[in-house]
Amino acid sequence: MTVSVAIIGTGPAGFYTADALIKKGLDCTIDLIDRLPTPYGLIRFGVAPDHQTTKKVSRAFEKTALADHCRFFGNVEVGRDISLPELREMYDAVVLAVGAGHDRHAGVPGEDKKGVIGSAAFVGWYNAHPDLRHLNPDLNSKSVAVIGNGNVAIDIARVLVKTREEMADSDLPEYAAAAIEAAPITDVYMLGRRGPIEAKFTNVELREMGELKNAVPLVDPAQLPDEVGALDNPRDQRLKEKNLATLKEFTRFKSSDAPKHVHFSFYANPVEILGGEHVEGIRLEKTHVVDGRATGTGEFFEIECGLVIPAVGYRSLPVADVPFDEKQAIVVHKDGRVVPGVYAVGWVKRGPSGVISTNRPDGAMAADHIAADCGEGGKPGRVALTKCLAERGVRVVTFEDWKLIESAEVAAAPASAPRRKFETVPEMLAVLGA
Ligand SMILES: Cc1cc2nc3c(=O)[nH]c(=O)nc-3n(C[C@H](O)[C@H](O)[C@H](O)COP(=O)(O)OP(=O)(O)OC[C@H]3O[C@@H](n4cnc5c(N)ncnc54)[C@H](O)[C@@H]3O)c2cc1C
Repeated sequence: MTVSVAIIGTGPAGFYTADALIKKGLDCTIDLIDRLPTPYGLIRFGVAPDHQTTKKVSRAFEKTALADHCRFFGNVEVGRDISLPELREMYDAVVLAVGAGHDRHAGVPGEDKKGVIGSAAFVGWYNAHPDLRHLNPDLNSKSVAVIGNGNVAIDIARVLVKTREEMADSDLPEYAAAAIEAAPITDVYMLGRRGPIEAKFTNVELREMGELKNAVPLVDPAQLPDEVGALDNPRDQRLKEKNLATLKEFTRFKSSDAPKHVHFSFYANPVEILGGEHVEGIRLEKTHVVDGRATGTGEFFEIECGLVIPAVGYRSLPVADVPFDEKQAIVVHKDGRVVPGVYAVGWVKRGPSGVISTNRPDGAMAADHIAADCGEGGKPGRVALTKCLAERGVRVVTFEDWKLIESAEVAAAPASAPRRKFETVPEMLAVLGA
């Protein structure tokens, strides 16, 4: 008998799970289901369009998708085309790998004003996510405030100040390239409640900010400590020391060096987003950090800006028919076991932290649980799913179909760009004659 496994979501966590099941040698079939016709989750729709080397990890996932055990069921949304209880009936094991694709709120008064756009939405827009292609953010502002001191905040700042030429090797969609090029943006403020030591940037991303054609990073030397101080974790220590050295190097830049500026504003806690219906600025309280926590000093200042992008984290939405922890915005689980026959991996299990490879151990753990829990299996899996979706008239996108979509994107790529992404699902399906 064969164990039938359905994996919902084909981002890194879904693929690492499939890979772990195959490497374990389990006699199984693995069906990889995604609501979009495109695999790879945030590798396609999160990782910055000018970081193509990072996106190449999808080549390894392609090998997994093409393994005998696996089938891709793209354009199949669980909750719309089929329910989780139905999948549980059909499969011996169902793995939730649906990620955390939505914005966490920053909790700042005024966040509901026009011109406040969360990073998940903004990043989805400049990455041509079909749900966000029509976001149409108003970029008609000289200044932009990005709330957050992590890599997502840095990605956003960089994409906003890079020139069209600098983005030529990227897969930034033309509508976003044109909107950014036409925008009068000269100053991007990256606002961190805490200091440079607490910032979550990785060093490669930070250093990149000092290598831009038309923009310079601006850092106030008074905000930089002489030393990092002793940290418990040696890896953290090395990273923070590198970051501090990079920030110190950045203090040589002056605003007259380039027409655009990225301001690293530390010790600045947003307390209110200002304006009427539309954002006109942001009010901040200066802080100092005690034992890693930011405390207000009672001193306030304001930055005039027409766009505020909170980049303070992502959240999962509740998954129907399984318990959900609203506070942490993850499914309730014990070491990845959710309810009998259902497992969770990746961001819907752990929350939005870490890099692509951080999701790998989740896949290995889920594969171990499935091997331990499912015996010889016996549920019909793929046969039942295929029949059900055909009866419901769902246009399943196979992996071969995806490769046709991908080839059409590559063929349409301008000059040195790797691809020109389709921006809507109907456009993708049209390639398939659907
Ligand atoms: C803006 C941004 C930039 C990043 N840049 C980097 C980087 O440069 N380097 C790096 O190592 N890491 C980066 N990361 C982190 C990395 O992308 C994540 O660690 C990883 O994608 C999380 O994997 P996941 O599989 O849990 O979720 P996801 O990648 O989000 O995948 C979830 C998948 O589930 C699908 N899905 C959701 N709901 C359903 C449903 N109901 N039915 C069917 N399918 C569904 C989605 O379509 C999606 O394909 C970045 C993250 C973000 C947000």
